[in-house]
Amino acid sequence: MSGGRGTAAAFRPPSVDRILGWPALAGLIAEHGRPVVLQSVRDELAARRAPAASPAASLAATAPESPRTPDDEAADIAQAVVRRVDSLMTDTLRPVHNLTGTVLHTNLGRAPLPREAIEAISRVAAGAANVEFDLDTGRRGERDDPVAQWLCRLTGAPAAAVVNNNAAAVVLLLNALALRKEVIVSRGELIELGGSFRLPDIMARAGCRLREVGTTNRTHLSDFAQAIGPRTALIMKVHASNYRIDGFTTQPDERELADLAHAHGIPFVIDLGSGTLTDLTRLGLPAEPTPAQALAQGADLVTFSGDKLLGGPQAGMLVGRADLIDRVRRNPLKRAMRCDKLTLAALAAVLRLYSDPDRLVQRVPALRQLARPPEPIEALARRVAPVLGGWLGERATVSVAPMLSQIGSGSLPVDRLPSFGLRIEPTGARRSAGRALDALAAQLRRLPTPVIGRVGDGALWLDLRCLEDEAGFTALFEPPPAP
Ligand SMILES: *Cc1c(COP(=O)(O)O)cnc(C)c1O
Repeated sequence: MSGGRGTAAAFRPPSVDRILGWPALAGLIAEHGRPVVLQSVRDELAARRAPAASPAASLAATAPESPRTPDDEAADIAQAVVRRVDSLMTDTLRPVHNLTGTVLHTNLGRAPLPREAIEAISRVAAGAANVEFDLDTGRRGERDDPVAQWLCRLTGAPAAAVVNNNAAAVVLLLNALALRKEVIVSRGELIELGGSFRLPDIMARAGCRLREVGTTNRTHLSDFAQAIGPRTALIMKVHASNYRIDGFTTQPDERELADLAHAHGIPFVIDLGSGTLTDLTRLGLPAEPTPAQALAQGADLVTFSGDKLLGGPQAGMLVGRADLIDRVRRNPLKRAMRCDKLTLAALAAVLRLYSDPDRLVQRVPALRQLARPPEPIEALARRVAPVLGGWLGERATVSVAPMLSQIGSGSLPVDRLPSFGLRIEPTGARRSAGRALDALAAQLRRLPTPVIGRVGDGALWLDLRCLEDEAGFTALFEPPPAP
């Protein structure tokens, strides 16, 4: 290797083959195989060849001004390759501590699964399972049947189907029941759910024509009645899950809409969004309509999510009239939206837990965290505050503070749950407080189990409502901080 000393521009790296033969990389090749190491060597050399184009591209850590020997360069390259391979070969999807104060956080994977669901997943994950195979007859079975039977039992619906998420359930329902026809929806319910899921766009993609009626704040039964025509396929109601319109408002109730639809021989469908299967007020939470109630009020089909208030895996449920479920199941899109065996196993396990409402709170983590009273959260905050305070040392002050959690995922958007947590405020100049705060939040995200809080009002807030693994959490902060 020539020109290594101090002349970065003249640096000519060893060949890829020579680098792959270095003893420093032998362990890496043994562990991960040659192709990924080879690619990482190529990536690293490419990054070194074009330092100006992407100054941060090389993962080398050594300061460039120091006098360099070929051995230095080699060690440097080997280290960078190890880092590249490590970052490629570790899980990118990792467990985190959700201390954001939003329990059902879409960006953090929504509901934590009950132990029973995790065990059900692991029982079927490794091998074959009777996903579409009837063990009694030895013939082909219906994929949805075991879950559908539980959904019927718990909601009183005559029939049910399940797909990958509730957005899919809505698309499928519209396409199966209203293709090239009109669907009447109140203007006050034309919602966007985030992630570019807007009901009017979804309607168009599902092949239906949206017929908006009424105004943002007030829609009357007569608005619906006047809109019904020969091309009307459905009346649809979308539960106000992620917003609330207060003040001078009116919407016809479900019963009236159902009666109107039925008088014209068309179905009335409700997208409930969250759709809990239990009475949340029994857990001290705000009331939320259940699919059973929606059906009792005359809805012909109801859709809801698996990983919101239900506390299960990501899934979309459709429950209601058997003839409509049949059309949904026969729609070709159903095949594109079907659940895999892991989801079906987890969902069935979660639904079984609902057969015993008295033990739900202990067994379903999402409900347990939502129902957690502020007192034990405060006690937890007082126990962990000194641990975090010790770790942060002079960099920040930690105090125990009351806060308000939210349910999340658009469920019960206005209601807040009294909680407790840690308020972390960086010490030092006010001028640089914003940067210090971001640095602190980033440091917590780099922990072996990343800790995700919320930045606001000049502090980093860690709401401890969802912290159940206290020992695992405090262990993150046990060694003294690096100086
Ligand atoms: C959350 C929600 C959806 C989408 O459900 P996913 O399971 O996230 O796909 C649809 N409609 C309403 C009203 C919702 O609240």
